[in-house]
Amino acid sequence: MVNNERTEKRAERRAEKKAVRDEKKRAEGNSGYDDSTSYPHMTLWYRFILGFGKVFVLPFLYRKFHIETEKMPGKIKDPSLIAFSHGCNFDQFAVIKGVPPYKRYIASDALVRDKKMRLAFGLINNFIFRRKGEKGDNVVKSAVVTIQKGIHVAMAPEGGETLNGVTNLPRPRTGEMIKQMNCGLVTFQIIGNYFLKPPWGLTRSKEGKIYGKVKGIYSREEIQAMSPEEINELIYRDLYVNQYDWQREHMIPYDREGRAEFMEYVLYVCPKCGEIGHLHSSKDTFRCDCGYSVDVNVYGFMEGEDCVFDNVYDWDVWQRDRIVERMEKWKEEPDKPFYTDVNGTFKYLENNTPVTLAEGATLEMAPNYMRVYADGYEKVFPFDEIRSVSVAHRHDVVIIHENRYYQFSTAIPSSPQKYKTAAYLLRGRDRMSF
Ligand SMILES: [Zn+2]
Repeated sequence: MVNNERTEKRAERRAEKKAVRDEKKRAEGNSGYDDSTSYPHMTLWYRFILGFGKVFVLPFLYRKFHIETEKMPGKIKDPSLIAFSHGCNFDQFAVIKGVPPYKRYIASDALVRDKKMRLAFGLINNFIFRRKGEKGDNVVKSAVVTIQKGIHVAMAPEGGETLNGVTNLPRPRTGEMIKQMNCGLVTFQIIGNYFLKPPWGLTRSKEGKIYGKVKGIYSREEIQAMSPEEINELIYRDLYVNQYDWQREHMIPYDREGRAEFMEYVLYVCPKCGEIGHLHSSKDTFRCDCGYSVDVNVYGFMEGEDCVFDNVYDWDVWQRDRIVERMEKWKEEPDKPFYTDVNGTFKYLENNTPVTLAEGATLEMAPNYMRVYADGYEKVFPFDEIRSVSVAHRHDVVIIHENRYYQFSTAIPSSPQKYKTAAYLLRGRDRMSF
């Protein structure tokens, strides 16, 4: 009896402590991945895995994903942030090969929402997880602690894979974060990844390569003498590449099944008729309801009789400019929706577990609000109250509102990116990433 009571009391105390911790996390608006107070645990295990992997697993993966890297031009002196350009899911393997020392990766928590994936990822690396749209204070804290223990941290400062083949600006807070981490910096550029498996596509090429190389190794003193803005500029300068320009020079075949498939995740304004959301992909062809049609060749370029743009980047720049113009018109009627997507599933995250709110839902965006509705369901997000609009899993629209993470996914391929771009413009950002 006495023992039972003790066990119960202990369980009660544990539950109380957990409730306090959860409440603190909720109040701070972080996702629950705050490991700033804990030692980057099980490092020995990961060192073992790394040693084992180096001999038995990695050579196989390097061959499988055609990864080729240049030898590091020198030694890394100080614990550093390893910043790499991001264009496909296999980039981490290029980073492991090109920058061999042990490091913790900052990764999107969308990777580990599934239990099996969580277990698998936990075995490979002691990740620092970041939730899209969050302020990321917990990530900074964890990164600082990791550097203090003398362990490198790796991340993609663009905040995601480039959708159009050109390196994005680093997240604005990157430089400030590196200052807080009081660390060195290594920049690692990856090219060819975008053609081997574009982030919007589902298939990968069996030919062609992913090329990685260290662009710069900077000491703690060098980096700490710079301002956050200067650090951001340095990262952007080192990592920047227009993969289409590079490919025009090299013309390496990257043949894939369905080379145009799911381009509608990125491209949504037709260059011929100007309509939004009338573009559809099938196999190697991308066409609009108006008749505009292009084929994607094995080099990743578009071709066709009336082809306006031969690559995704130029088309994307053009379409953003069209949206900038139209936004001025749209703002004149701030309660009229300018984007609509139908037949979606609407969820939110409760303690990192997705909970479905509505099926067969419609998402619309107007200058003043975003709204999701279905039979017997409605949720309106006044635009001023939305903390951020972003994209996850290439097809989901993510809305962060009152510290809550909402996600709209639809089975019909359409561009979630258009909501993110519109939100940027409505906030009046001038220097914007795609
Ligand atoms: Zn058209």
